[in-house]
Amino acid sequence: MKTLGHLINGNIDHSEGRTQDIFNPSTGEVGGQVRLASKATVEEAIAAAEAAFPEWRNTPPIKRSRVMFRFKQLLEEHSDEIARLIGQEHGKICHDALGELQRGIENVEYACSAPELLKGEHSRNTGPGIDSWSEFQPLGVVAGITPFNFPAMVPLWMYPMAIACGNTFVLKPSERDPTSTLFIAELLMEAGLPAGVMNVVNGDKEAVDTLLDDPRIQAVSFVGSTPIAEYIYSRAAANGKRCQALGGAKNHAIVMPDADMEYVANSLNGAAFGSSGERCMALSVAVAVGDDAADKLIAQMKQQMEGLKVGIYSDKGNDFGPLITAAHRDKVVGYIDSAEQQGATVVVDGRNPQVEGGENGFFVGGTLIDGVTPEMTCYQEEIFGPVLLVVRADSMEAAMQLINDHEYGNGTCIYTRDGEAARYFSDHIQVGMVGINVPLPVPVAYHSFGGWKRSLFGDLSAYGPDAVRFYTRRKTITQRWPSAGLREGAQFAFPS
Ligand code: NAD
Repeated sequence: MKTLGHLINGNIDHSEGRTQDIFNPSTGEVGGQVRLASKATVEEAIAAAEAAFPEWRNTPPIKRSRVMFRFKQLLEEHSDEIARLIGQEHGKICHDALGELQRGIENVEYACSAPELLKGEHSRNTGPGIDSWSEFQPLGVVAGITPFNFPAMVPLWMYPMAIACGNTFVLKPSERDPTSTLFIAELLMEAGLPAGVMNVVNGDKEAVDTLLDDPRIQAVSFVGSTPIAEYIYSRAAANGKRCQALGGAKNHAIVMPDADMEYVANSLNGAAFGSSGERCMALSVAVAVGDDAADKLIAQMKQQMEGLKVGIYSDKGNDFGPLITAAHRDKVVGYIDSAEQQGATVVVDGRNPQVEGGENGFFVGGTLIDGVTPEMTCYQEEIFGPVLLVVRADSMEAAMQLINDHEYGNGTCIYTRDGEAARYFSDHIQVGMVGINVPLPVPVAYHSFGGWKRSLFGDLSAYGPDAVRFYTRRKTITQRWPSAGLREGAQFAFPS
């Protein structure tokens, strides 16, 4: 059985120490172990990144971007293998894993344009014989800490752009499904990246805390749950580091009475249950405006959910796979139980799915719950499972108020045929990513991704233009070459 190590200074490191089991959630079996880095191992990775920085910083951006072009090609050549590794440890169906990888590759493509993105700003003659310009310099060693639910895509949100900007990187992936992440980092080395520029340390809190406290780390990008995001942001900031920490979500869709219910049910099906609901952009609450809309929606959903197939990651005929761990499956089932106990109606019950060949896997089937109210635990907390809640509201304003009052503000969507209502919604809703008849409004790689409220701690969003700003520091230079004609006496006041 394999034991996964770390990637430090271009080599796989197998320092002895603590390990953790990696499961195959489709079968419930242990597929291997991952080493959990000690403080000393993480410090070794930081030292490698620090040593690689001066030369990488001075490598012309066009040469840095050529590495990214080769990396993209290698990712495409190995896509089936990567999808299999993701499926084995995460449980998502192969074609969904390929989709995740494709979104990641799009971030590599964006990083390929680093020479254009780093051009800076220039002004000639800002004063007599004076020129001024701003340039965007890399920060040094930067770190990324990532969640289990996108082991390929979320790390690719971070390090291609950070590295293309001239930084060196230490990544701490999720310890629950780390194999595809390490494999992808090795492809980046194969693409021609010098040793030490990209390092991967597997581990848990000990590794994370080392990254947060080490003064050589200049900036931290984090994606994960809100309590940990808040902790990362506070500790990194207290240590004087730049930090962006993306957290959890509770994404609502408003279903207006004029919406095309068949289309709504179709798209909610994919957005609520795809990847077992383990997406930070999963739509987990449908707010129907009026009882008539709610009844029609429930009827359509019930019909469409009959065809849902939950099962093993390798069967392309399945719609979604298992949850990540047995403990998480039990937690999701606990939320369904609590909804029932608090007065909601479980319309479609996924608590005991029959999965051939996956009898010991961590499965929950698609679940639909009607009559949910804001006081219920299942409404207040992020479930992160294949569970869609239906809340009934009297008006669009009441539906919007629910969304604005919720602690999370990652994504949202409205289904309507009324352009004026849609425009009002997108203008006034307190959420960072908004869809209009689009259930998963995930921005493309050349925009940036970020929620509001307790879904993001920090100022800049992930990837896209914000990532260029996050991974660089502006320096503004003002220059004059005084000739005899320009010489003047000392000036004690600002020129007017
Ligand atoms: P998590 O917060 O448990 O773990 C994320 C990372 O933090 C992992 O690398 C983990 O090792 C580390 N970590 C966990 N506990 C820690 C601690 N006490 N101290 C220091 N480090 C710790 O999240 P997860 O379960 O892996 O991922 C699911 C969560 O991530 C969900 O809440 C989901 O909404 C969120 N998520 C958000 C986005 C987004 O863009 N906003 C994207 C993907 C996932």
